[in-house]
Amino acid sequence: MVDFKAYANASIRQLQPYQPGKPIDELQRELGIEPVIKLASNENPLGASPEAIIAAQKAMQGIHLYPDGSGYQLKQALAQRFNILPSQITLGNGSDNVLSLIAQAFVQPQHDIVISQYAYSTFAIIASAVGANVITVPAKNWAHDLSHITQSLTANTQLIFLANPNNPTGTWFSASELVKLLEAVPAHVLVVSDEAYSEYIEDADYPDTIKLQQKYPNLIVTHTFSKIYALAGLRVGYAISHPDIADMLNRIRLPFNVSTPALAAAVAALHDHQHFQKSLELNRRGKAQLTAAFTRLNLDYIPSIGNFIAVDVGRDAKEVYQALLRQGVIVRPLDPYNMPNHLRITIGLSEQNEFFIRALTKVLA
Ligand SMILES: *Cc1c(COP(=O)(O)O)cnc(C)c1O
Repeated sequence: MVDFKAYANASIRQLQPYQPGKPIDELQRELGIEPVIKLASNENPLGASPEAIIAAQKAMQGIHLYPDGSGYQLKQALAQRFNILPSQITLGNGSDNVLSLIAQAFVQPQHDIVISQYAYSTFAIIASAVGANVITVPAKNWAHDLSHITQSLTANTQLIFLANPNNPTGTWFSASELVKLLEAVPAHVLVVSDEAYSEYIEDADYPDTIKLQQKYPNLIVTHTFSKIYALAGLRVGYAISHPDIADMLNRIRLPFNVSTPALAAAVAALHDHQHFQKSLELNRRGKAQLTAAFTRLNLDYIPSIGNFIAVDVGRDAKEVYQALLRQGVIVRPLDPYNMPNHLRITIGLSEQNEFFIRALTKVLA
């Protein structure tokens, strides 16, 4: 039998598979327990906007036809929302898809991609897929260290992947830190600001990257409908960039990468302000609930501006994770990020947070 693995690209053979949050029905199959709650994948615990669900159902009437490959309606809605041109937008099958398109379009094997320690793990997967060399810059207090990143650029650097806030740490950087980096970076180096959680952020220092693009056309912003817009299962994300960059991304984008129900649901979700506000408010209260519990339990946590919190359980978090599974709670152990004592908890509904806190208290006792 042929050793097919030996024929794979060397950079891909070295990759560790991505470890997603455990699905609820998998845990139910394994342990036969009820109820099970999942606080492991930063999904919106309120569920999708009812308007988005209706729009997706309506769109089902047309699923024998290929989707609108140009995503006209969604691009119009986004252009209006952000006061940009539709030609600045690249739609993706989730924002992971557009992150991947950026590397495919602009990065060659002789190039370096610069990322931070503890950065969103998809960045490294994408870099390996294009065979690029990854430069990982040490984090500072768990956060991206933008001045160290600036100093780490080489003549071969073509792309910098930043996540703001970063997942799994929840850490963020300010507008002034980003501007300093953009001022120092050569004009041809692409700087990606992955803003999967930007809608949750109320901090005034948070960069207005769409505005910064006017001065720094090498800055690319990515957003997703998977987090606050609660459409993770439909897979819609997008990049906002200079039109010339978007033109290149759209040339390699596979023509029907976003499905008809996904396009329709995304437009509806974007317009449901009530659901958006409810999601924001729920997250604010849930964050206070969880951090108060961590303080009570004497656990250090990393301050987060996302819809999740990384908490130091003071011992092997994998064991705590396993014990929580037996209590019917799925969270995310962070050993794949070399954070062996941390768990990442997605902020849930108040009763889910309470259920988790009780389980954690019991497990740690
Ligand atoms: C969740 C997440 C994404 C995107 O997910 P998609 O579902 O592919 O849109 C991107 N970046 C970060 C940092 C995330 O946490």
